[in-house]
Amino acid sequence: MKAWPDVYIPSLDSKFELPLLSLFNSASRKVEDLPTKQTYRMYVCGITPYDSTHLGHAATYLAFDLINRYLRAKKSEVLFVENITDIDDPLLERAHRVGINWQTLADSQIDLFRSDMTSLRILPPNFYIGAVESIGLVTQKIEELRSAGAIYSVDNDLYFRVHNDPDFGSRSHLNEADSLRIFEQRGGDPYRKGKENPLDSLVWLSKRENEPGWPSIHGEGRPGWHIECCAIALGYLQPDTHEDFLIDIQGGGNDLVFPHHEMSASQARVSTGKDFARMYVHAGMIGLNGEKMSKSLGNLVFVSTLMNSGISPMAIRIALMMQHYSTNRMWSDELLTRAQDFLSNLTLYLSQTESAPTDAVIQGIIHALSENIDTEKVFSILQDWINECRYGSTGGNPGELSRALDTLLGLAI
Ligand code: ZN
Repeated sequence: MKAWPDVYIPSLDSKFELPLLSLFNSASRKVEDLPTKQTYRMYVCGITPYDSTHLGHAATYLAFDLINRYLRAKKSEVLFVENITDIDDPLLERAHRVGINWQTLADSQIDLFRSDMTSLRILPPNFYIGAVESIGLVTQKIEELRSAGAIYSVDNDLYFRVHNDPDFGSRSHLNEADSLRIFEQRGGDPYRKGKENPLDSLVWLSKRENEPGWPSIHGEGRPGWHIECCAIALGYLQPDTHEDFLIDIQGGGNDLVFPHHEMSASQARVSTGKDFARMYVHAGMIGLNGEKMSKSLGNLVFVSTLMNSGISPMAIRIALMMQHYSTNRMWSDELLTRAQDFLSNLTLYLSQTESAPTDAVIQGIIHALSENIDTEKVFSILQDWINECRYGSTGGNPGELSRALDTLLGLAI
């Protein structure tokens, strides 16, 4: 699948020091340092293309964009893979409900997602991979799991025995009742007859009447969701066999902690014998005016709608960065207005030839980002700088600050 165009990143002057990046690891429930490496492997779960791109999507991909930018500013290489679940039940259900072909719906939403990511200046993945194009990888992964004794069938569908992974549950920390409840809420089928364990996850769904299916050694059908990500991540990130972990960062929204990331990690563990990700990093959800933003409530705010009404994508970026990436937070008109005001002030002072000193500002921003991407602190530092400029302080280099904001925050001002 074609990604979106690359984004130029200016380099930082070598006088700035970039400390180790620390991130909150949901699996250990601690903020941990990411060790210095030449190459990082990052996998971020992508969308199912039926309602792109709402602000929750934008916030998630922005969080991992900031991580990507920081590591690249440290002169490391980041191998970044993102998937797109271009065949799944919610896509088929939406297409059926609105009466259009599922592929037409998917293609239109994928195009919109690419164009929104481009406008928001999100660095594209090295590989942007659809479920349909990864069916070969998925069937191969199922065979590896079968060799490990972890696959059984119910009718013509195939399931993964989650408890073949001795660490199953260790990344999400849920008790059994919560696991079952959330599994059922998020597309699982705990009470299907014939399953050995309620949490066992579907890896291959045999073709149903009036639904698409693809030929494979398992018969005609389509992949389960969790195995899709496991197969794409390991297939395209090409883990280094000398490392303790297959990849460095598994990312996504915090609604993916369970079952999605737990299941993919278990499948990776059972098929390779190694731990999947060094860190599981999750972005918070975005609500609207005090309520959860959701399809069912019909209150999703779309990036394209905002931009079509004349809102600058940089103001959207700033609004999403004003609060910490990992928190569940609210979107509001007031937040957007604050972000727009901030952007105007920043633009005004960055465009002048004289400004308040900037070296300590840039170094302060770097430090704040190194501490679990503390963008709240970044904006407090920038607000102080704007205030100093307003009082006539001089001695800075606004051009250098402008470039650093591009490098680290993806702000083109
Ligand atoms: Zn995924």
